[in-house]
Amino acid sequence: MNPRPIIGRFAPSPTGALHLGSLCTALASYCHIKSLGGQWLVRIEDVDFERCKPDYAVSILTDLDNLGLHSDGEILFQSKRTDIYDEYLAHLSNITYHCTCSRKELSALSIPAVSFYDVNIKDLHLAPIYPRLCLHKNLSDNKIRLCLPDVLTAFFDGIQGVIWDNPAKSLGDVVVKRQNGMINYMLACTIDDGLQGITHVMRGLDIMPMTVAQLCIAKACLLPTPHYFYHLPLLVNHDGQKLSKQNLATPIDTTTPDKVSDLLFTALTLLGQNPPAELQKETPDTILMWATRHWDNGVLQGAALGMV
Ligand code: GLU
Repeated sequence: MNPRPIIGRFAPSPTGALHLGSLCTALASYCHIKSLGGQWLVRIEDVDFERCKPDYAVSILTDLDNLGLHSDGEILFQSKRTDIYDEYLAHLSNITYHCTCSRKELSALSIPAVSFYDVNIKDLHLAPIYPRLCLHKNLSDNKIRLCLPDVLTAFFDGIQGVIWDNPAKSLGDVVVKRQNGMINYMLACTIDDGLQGITHVMRGLDIMPMTVAQLCIAKACLLPTPHYFYHLPLLVNHDGQKLSKQNLATPIDTTTPDKVSDLLFTALTLLGQNPPAELQKETPDTILMWATRHWDNGVLQGAALGMV
């Protein structure tokens, strides 16, 4: 059997503009995959129509272009692919069920989630486990939950090491489609990673708790799974919170090549790549070329990306 071509991706949710934290993720995944001679794809994960805004997608794509981080293939927008996700959901009917429980009803009943590792991020906590009240009710309306297997399993993470998890105990039966038709990110992302033949997933540590569940969902969908995962340490602010669009991390300014060079240099420094000082004065293309040639995942192992 021929080996699969090496394909990585950057898959931002357009809930805000790119900031230094998301720039580090984009740059790391780009340099890493290019250092392996692979292709790098951009996918806009805008299934959450309440939080994602088309204007943010435009600004993210403009920034990536200005940064010289160009997708090697068509840019997919998940909001245009709901038919595909629905089709896969129909095939998963033996492991999904409808549920009418409201958050309020559940608040007193839910089972606390078990965390199998300490990711050490202050604002990351797992939601309680759904107690399967609707599992055998044969409902045909409302939200859809997917049964995740009660099995302790592991995957190898190229930065974090061997990660064990039992998705039934850490996540429980996740809602994969809400009553308003919104598809859950975890399902859409898994299906697209499979359909796009993604072999290398490099992303923020905050998404690591979804990984085992995503591997299980891909298997249930009979889709290929990524060969390698790399969960990057996160940039945190002075309160120890992950830099995110929600806590208003400052948007990056990519409007001139000088600003882009400064940003790339800063991000490479935060990523522990130790760029030589004189590189900062070079063009964005030269900086990217240097970064790809010298890319080293090793320095990220066990590292905290640091504070800004
Ligand atoms: N769309 C996710 C986010 O912006 C990233 C998903 C992934 O890389 O798997 O946080």
